[in-house]
Amino acid sequence: MEKVVIIGSGCAGWTAALYTARADLKPLVLTGRQPGGLLTTTSIVENFPGFPEGVDGYELMTRMQKQAERFGARASFGTVEAADFSQRPFVLTVDGERVEAETVIIATGASHKHLGVPGEDLLETKGVTYCATCDGALPFFRNQPLVVVGGGDSACEEATYLTRFGSIIYLVHRRDSLRASKIMAERLLANPKVKPIWDTAVTEVLDVAQDKVTAVKLKNLKTGEESILPCAGVFVAIGHGPNTEIFKHQIKTDENGFILHGLHSTMTNVPGVFVAGDCADHVYRQAITSAGAGCAAAIDAERFLAAQNQ
Ligand code: NAP
Repeated sequence: MEKVVIIGSGCAGWTAALYTARADLKPLVLTGRQPGGLLTTTSIVENFPGFPEGVDGYELMTRMQKQAERFGARASFGTVEAADFSQRPFVLTVDGERVEAETVIIATGASHKHLGVPGEDLLETKGVTYCATCDGALPFFRNQPLVVVGGGDSACEEATYLTRFGSIIYLVHRRDSLRASKIMAERLLANPKVKPIWDTAVTEVLDVAQDKVTAVKLKNLKTGEESILPCAGVFVAIGHGPNTEIFKHQIKTDENGFILHGLHSTMTNVPGVFVAGDCADHVYRQAITSAGAGCAAAIDAERFLAAQNQ
């Protein structure tokens, strides 16, 4: 039986692994289908402390893994298909195999919602991005027209942030008003660098043939009129969902599926099951805050095990 199983291998997962490994708990990290998590899809990470020149997202995650493995963490390329937290030890089904655990740290992260239009996936990291904080300052976005898609707080936040870099920020939204909180919407719309394009959907990202973003194809949903808007970047901010589906009915979540935990504790409603990172956080969603939460979950799990064994 494992003392600690960590589900997920992003910043939260590997930081939890580092700390539990150093506590000699020999954690098992189940990597999931995307080892390294969302950060491996970003190009340069410039806001993780300790890397003044920035660091490639994939490299950062590889380094985190190596650091945790140096102290005895083990990685297993596996996807959790089912979890049974109704009794102890907890039982996870991982690619058909049964894994028993005294404690579990859920660090499954979240996935950005995609528009699902032609060109979007093929041009990801080549001008299509889901994180302005991560990518907005990249040289090829500077002083260029940029498109933000969405009408919620995320879209407002992303667009506001991008006004520092882009020449003009087009906010493309499928309605004629924003869903975002009033203060964020007002602040955004008062910015002279922001031009909203209402009642409009992005129907294609161009240009796959040039292997970079050059424009978006738009369709006005009221008039049906189509147009092409030149831009160097498309920032998709239409929300993102936590990867918590498999824990449904066992772990308490909010109405959007984000896992709930104690005020000063990472413990979920099930004693012995802890949570860290984007699957529990819709507010900060940064690599460094996930890493911090992973550290906290590891310390909580270690203390929980120590109390059990007294
Ligand atoms: P959200 O509030 O769900 O907004 C998503 C936006 O994307 C909506 O405007 C929605 O349009 C649009 N959208 C959804 N699917 C689309 C599609 N397929 N094509 C085009 N547009 C699409 O998501 P969010 O902005 O990420 O915010 C999530 C939560 O985090 C919210 O509770 C928010 O308040 C919070 N948040 C807070 C802050 C902050 O306070 N600093 C920052 C970011 C997020 P419709 O309006 O037509 O549905």
